[in-house]
Amino acid sequence: MNRVGFGVDLHPLVAGRPLVLGGVTLESDLGLAGHSDADVALHALTDAVLGTIAAGDIGMHFPPSDPQWRGASSHRFLRQAVDLLQAAGGRIVHLDLTLVCQVPRIGPHRDAMVESIARIAGVERGRVSVKATTTEGLGFTGRREGIAAQAIATVELPRR
Ligand code: MG
Repeated sequence: MNRVGFGVDLHPLVAGRPLVLGGVTLESDLGLAGHSDADVALHALTDAVLGTIAAGDIGMHFPPSDPQWRGASSHRFLRQAVDLLQAAGGRIVHLDLTLVCQVPRIGPHRDAMVESIARIAGVERGRVSVKATTTEGLGFTGRREGIAAQAIATVELPRR
């Protein structure tokens, strides 16, 4: 059977942090603050994959209060979610990510992000979609105070 999972995340943009999006480190004066490397894209994808197997959320599996996740590379979170899906007999059909940000421009980095996410999730590039939108200057993303991400994972699971 097919299942769809949804994930959403946002993190503040601050000076003095690296900007990691989709597992790709970008040149930027501002980076994302928060849990781990604060890769908002991989966090939304992780929650989307966890959602397909009703396995809770990223905060439950990797609590921010646990020092082992401080500064951790978020590819571990997405990989763990995919491992749980596979342990349930499932496989990823498609991952669809939308980044909501005024900065940086995603277009020049889109292919690298697709490649990175596909590699982490263990799927072909054609199964990974990376999109981006600005908010026309509105809201916290428009003011460059943060970046938001939404993700949908479509998977196949054995009927039970
Ligand atoms: Mg997060």
